[in-house]
Amino acid sequence: AKDFGGNQYQLFSSSIGQQTNRRLQLEQRLRKALEQNHLEVVYQPKLNLYTNRISGVEALIRWNDPILGVVSPDEFIPIAEETGMIIPIGKWVLEKSSQQNGEWNKSGYPPIHVCVNISSKQFLQDDFVKMVQQVLQDADLEPKYLNLEITEGIALYKIDDTIEKLLHLKQLGVSISLDDFGTGYSSLSYLKRLPIDYLKIDRSFINGIYEDKQDFAIIDSIISLSHSLGINVVAEGVEDELQLKTLRQLHCDEIQGYYYAMPMTAEKVNHFFDEKGEY
Ligand code: C2E
Ligand code: CA
Ligand code: CA
Ligand code: CA
Repeated sequence: AKDFGGNQYQLFSSSIGQQTNRRLQLEQRLRKALEQNHLEVVYQPKLNLYTNRISGVEALIRWNDPILGVVSPDEFIPIAEETGMIIPIGKWVLEKSSQQNGEWNKSGYPPIHVCVNISSKQFLQDDFVKMVQQVLQDADLEPKYLNLEITEGIALYKIDDTIEKLLHLKQLGVSISLDDFGTGYSSLSYLKRLPIDYLKIDRSFINGIYEDKQDFAIIDSIISLSHSLGINVVAEGVEDELQLKTLRQLHCDEIQGYYYAMPMTAEKVNHFFDEKGEY
């Protein structure tokens, strides 16, 4: 038993060592990736269930490092947040995707909005609204074609300041989505106060929509409440037709997920438009 304990300790300490090592390596490589253009943005189309057309795309960052290989945003975004690198990275995603949407717009494709994930550190910058305004101007993109995705964590931290900032953004014409809804400390009463246009139901609820009566009931009430507050609902992570059908029955406005489209390069989005004959 003593030996076993000893081995266990060694295993434990070496795995902590490996984690620290990996973290440091990620941090260093991420800095390089930003400088050397190893970051990329892919776009996942979102379907409007009323028009049966694409309504927008979500910009999702990708990192394929020459040494580390593909690193998932779930692993490196938290590191980018802790180190502050999320400020330049987030700005870069905003610029890149706004420019891209400006190009789609000018190529005669039907106008869509691009949804950009905003991390809390980024949103809390004093000059955040100014920065967004500048990016839009430089990309020659009308503000109504930009949607910013914020999470409940951001929204509820200093809620009065958040509301003021959101109102400022909305005055510009930018729309707002509340992302990952249901995973945080979601208090439904906050929905009334937050000036948001879309609510994205987290995919953990969508998974069980037709097997789990409780998930069904939760989604049903989120949709009803949102609609009564004038908020559109987007279901995330829709992977099959039955989920889609169920969401239609519940009057969900939009869906996003592998069933409709995978995240894809900008070039593939062009093909996607062409295939669907949406212009
Ligand atoms: P998110 O904002 O909730 O983005 C949706 C995630 O779900 C994406 O993962 C997307 O690829 C994935 N997804 C889409 N459809 C399906 C589906 O049908 N099934 C399943 N299982 N997954 C689906 P991804 O691209 O790995 O991004 C993970 C998270 O990283 C994002 O979650 C977001 O929180 C963060 N992230 C990604 N790009 C950015 C960015 O540019 N800035 C910031 N701040 N965060 C980002
Ligand atoms: Ca998102
Ligand atoms: Ca989400
Ligand atoms: Ca998420």
